[in-house]
Formats: sequence, structure tokens, C-alpha cells
Amino acid sequence: MSGTFVGMPAFPTAAREALGNTQLRRNLAHATHTIRDKRAKVVAEVEDWEDLRLAGAGVKEAALRDLATHLETLEASLERARATVHWARDADEACRIVADVTRAHGADEVVKVKSMATVEIGLNEALEARGIAAWETDLAELIVQLGDDLPSHILVPAIHRNRAEIREIFRRRMGDVGRPAPEGLGDDPAALASAAREHLREKFLRAKVAVSGANFAVAETGTLVVVESEGNGRMCLTLPEVLISVVGIEKVVATWSDLDPMLRLLPRSSTGERMNPYTSTWSGVTPGDGPQEVHVVLLDNGRTRALADEVGRQALRCIRCSACLNVCPVYERVGGHAYGSVYPGPIGAILNPLMKGVGEDPQVDSLPYASSLCGACYEVCPVKIDIPSVLVDLRAQVVDAHRGGTPKLEAVAMKGASSTFASSKRLGFAERFARLGTGLARRLPIATPWTGARDLPQGPTESFRAWWKRTDGGRFNE
Ligand code: SF4
Repeated sequence: MSGTFVGMPAFPTAAREALGNTQLRRNLAHATHTIRDKRAKVVAEVEDWEDLRLAGAGVKEAALRDLATHLETLEASLERARATVHWARDADEACRIVADVTRAHGADEVVKVKSMATVEIGLNEALEARGIAAWETDLAELIVQLGDDLPSHILVPAIHRNRAEIREIFRRRMGDVGRPAPEGLGDDPAALASAAREHLREKFLRAKVAVSGANFAVAETGTLVVVESEGNGRMCLTLPEVLISVVGIEKVVATWSDLDPMLRLLPRSSTGERMNPYTSTWSGVTPGDGPQEVHVVLLDNGRTRALADEVGRQALRCIRCSACLNVCPVYERVGGHAYGSVYPGPIGAILNPLMKGVGEDPQVDSLPYASSLCGACYEVCPVKIDIPSVLVDLRAQVVDAHRGGTPKLEAVAMKGASSTFASSKRLGFAERFARLGTGLARRLPIATPWTGARDLPQGPTESFRAWWKRTDGGRFNE
């Protein structure tokens, strides 16, 4: 039941289509401006915000520097706490592990607390293919799932939907998969939340197996941490008999005290709150309390590839707060679907190419260009990821990956410019014909895609060299 990002077109094509959707742009502008104003207000309250950012970046950087050791420590701590640890190289392995554990308990359904890693690996579709239904329990994820839709924001996956659309989705689809929406459901947020609560409750009470993600994994204590706003996560984490957590290997931090800066940075940067309404932590199995079987799937799926990239590895510091999305002028206009991934916006423009590699897929190769390089993302990032620098580096990697073969028009133009600037004779010749050339270039059909959206400046009536010669370097009056 939910869509898939597989086969999405390259960014320019998807963005053009999104730009034609006025309703989408209106929804996005309203939502991103609201969240970003809230964020700015609560960040301004913290005097040492910049020091906090440095501390957060330091915690994640230290963990990444010695990732293998921290992961082994995490594994040992989890096993001491009677959790079973699995290692998954890629999406297929991770999906197979989750399906096998679910099947071993004779279950044909799971409840899920919001987990981007499971969307990244296509877990719902993989489980569905094996006859297991996966029910999203986060309100926004539920809206996306019932609408056969795709998430378009890290924090608010249904940001592209307004209240009237959500009411329609609930009325149309809830009855197909469980408790129907109440008669006469309105579009008041409280009524919509209440309808979702009623719909989900029977699933929570029935499910034997839950699947979660984690915001952080503490190596020294074997503690997984989930922060959320609705409390649904806590139901998932405590009610079912079996809990399977799919955790990207970059989520590890070394010590419990490392959580301090992270849990202060995350809520202010994401929901614009001083602290998260629900912060759940669990370490393996506690007899008689909560799930009595806990599995942790440590997921690579391209993260070690990203780690090997000297410039791009900083992207693995990301704590998925979504602040960079909310300030991005490109994201605000095209929304998340255009990025073709569960990770949209500025972080998606670097994380996807870093994890998947460039030079293979035109969709992935188009992402580093989905930016104006204005730098707003870097300014708000709580863990100081220099997204613009990574974008520029990735653009160079994309160009390098496509060297050889038939040269593109842009490459030919750049070669021509390089040869012209290398010789003063050629440059002088080019200057003399610049004025005439500008007029001609405007009319060439080959140039119209460029000139259709930009002004081609008119060349000067006299070149600098001609002026220098005529006035003897400015000594004679003109
Ligand atoms: S890159 Fe930074 S601002 Fe963007 S989601 Fe990640 S942590 Fe937040």
C-alpha cells in the first residue's frame, strides 16, 4: 500500500512537474515558514547555541572517526542486555532479517514507529511481498500510507497535504484496512488526530511484533533512543512481545553523556520545541517489562561508502532534524518528492549520492545540482555539516564520472573559453567580435534554453584593450 521511490525521474524533470502544482507550493510555503519561525525563536533563547553546535558536531565526528570500535562496543553492550544483534550489509539483507524474525513468531503484521531507515530499505514493500502487513503508526506516516503516497519531508512526511486532503484520505481509506473514520469527520486537527488514534489503537493492542528505528544508539550502555511528539512510538516500543529496531550504523554515539548536546540540539532544530515531548530509551530486554525479545539490525546500505568520502563523510553526522529543508529555497518550491528519496532537501542532495555512489544513475547524479549554494542549510545545521562544500565536491565527482564519450555542449564551450583565455591574441580577437557575437548567440536555437530564462548581457562598445590603446593607458582624455 504506499508508493515507492524506485524509478523516479531526475531532479530537473521531477522539479518541473512539482512547480506546476500551486496547491503543493502553498502548503509547503506555509508549513516550512511556520516551522522555521518556531525554530529561530527557540534557538535565539540559547546563548551558547554556537558552542552547542560545536559540541554536537564533535560528538558525532568522534563517533565516526572510530566507528568500528564503537559498533563492536554497542554490539557487546546490547548482547549483555539480552538483545540479538544482526548486521545487514544492504537493504535486501535487512528486509530478510526483519521478515524472518516476524515469521518465526507466526505473525502476519507488524506495527512501526517512524523509521526513515525502513523506508530507505523499502521494508514495507518487502514485507508485503512475503505476506506481512506493515502498519505505520506515526500520524504523518499513516497519512502517507493510507494515501498510497510518498514521504516528502524528514520530520513531517505529509507536509504536502493540507487538512482537507487528510480528511478525505481518512474517510476514503481507513475502512479498507481497519477501523473506519468516524461519521461526519471534519478537518479540525484535533478531530483528525483522534480518528487516527482510534484507528491505530486496535492495531497496537493486536500486534505481536513492532519495528522501530532509533535516533541514537549509545555504545557504552547498549541503549537505543527514539524521540517523537505523539506517544505512538512509546506504544510500539512497549506493547508488542517482539521489538525489531533497524538502526543505521551512523547513529552510534560513544557514551551516555554524549546524548546531552544531541538531545538539546535536536528538538529546537526540528520541531522548534525546547525538549521532545517523548524521549524513549531502552537497553535490551527487561524481564516482565516491555518486549521480551529484542532484535537490533545494524544497517550499512552505503554508509561505509559515504564514510570513505573525505569531504562527504560529514553528512553521516546528520541527526535528521530537517532544519536544512525548512530554509532551503529550492525545497520550499519543489517539495520533497522531486528528490526521489526518503531523504529530500539539502541533506538528501548529498546523502543519496554519497551512499549510492555517482556515475551510475542519472537521478542520483542530478541531486548535487539541486541547490543554489546559498549556504542557508549550513547556517542552521545543528551539527555543522558544510552541505554547500559537499555539494560542490559531489558535482566534481559527477563530472569526473562522466568524462570520456561524446563531449557535452557545456564541456565544448568551456574548452573553447579555456583556449581563448590562454592566448592574448585569441582573447583580443574574441573581444572584437563579442558585441556582434552576443546578438547572434541570442538567436541561435542551441542557446535558447539558456537565454530563455536569463539575460545575455550586451558586450561593451569598446573593449578594455582598445580603450587602453586609444588613450595610452588613460593618459589622454577620451
Ligand atoms: S543536515 Fe543538518 S540541518 Fe539537515 S537534517 Fe541533517 S542535521 Fe538537520
